[in-house]
Amino acid sequence: MLKEKIPIPAPKITDDHRKLIYLVGIYANTLDKSADKENWFKDGPLYATIYELTAEGIFETYDYAPVSVLGLDGFHRFMNISIEGKDDLDDLRELGLLNHMKISTTTYGTVTAYRLSSEGMKHYDKTPKKFRDQIDKLVHCPKHKSKLMEIVCIAFEKYYFRCPSCNYEREIPIFEIEDVSYISTPRFIRLPYRKRR
Ligand SMILES: [Zn+2]
Repeated sequence: MLKEKIPIPAPKITDDHRKLIYLVGIYANTLDKSADKENWFKDGPLYATIYELTAEGIFETYDYAPVSVLGLDGFHRFMNISIEGKDDLDDLRELGLLNHMKISTTTYGTVTAYRLSSEGMKHYDKTPKKFRDQIDKLVHCPKHKSKLMEIVCIAFEKYYFRCPSCNYEREIPIFEIEDVSYISTPRFIRLPYRKRR
């Protein structure tokens, strides 16, 4: 009997894939075009941004849930992570639209960083205006509309957007775990130096 290999169908590109391509592109591929160095979007700030856009309803098929994550400081903590967003990053890699790179850190483990492939950039250029507008509104400074905000992480316990021109800041509450009954938060993995406002 002839054995045929059944091809696994490639993931179909959805609207949320398109938005994710645009998001990675603005932070990794289109910044500092004049500079020699390549920008890569590291997983921490990328997950924080995906969370923010999910909470704002931009990614229509994503949800988020608290996931225990090992930080670069060697401590575990809960972060609101979108599993669907992570799956879509894998899909884009599988489709050859996204390149990734593992970076070893001086402290613990590795971080993964992403940027679009040249094929991914073709999709980026074709991002519908509606999607661009939705995302641009959230990642650009409300005062300097053309200024892309940086994503800053402080002591592995606070992420925020910051405008490099006027220092406008907006926190991304990725560490603020909503009080839902099915989640139990083991106390012992909380940060020893955790400070709250
Ligand atoms: Zn500004």
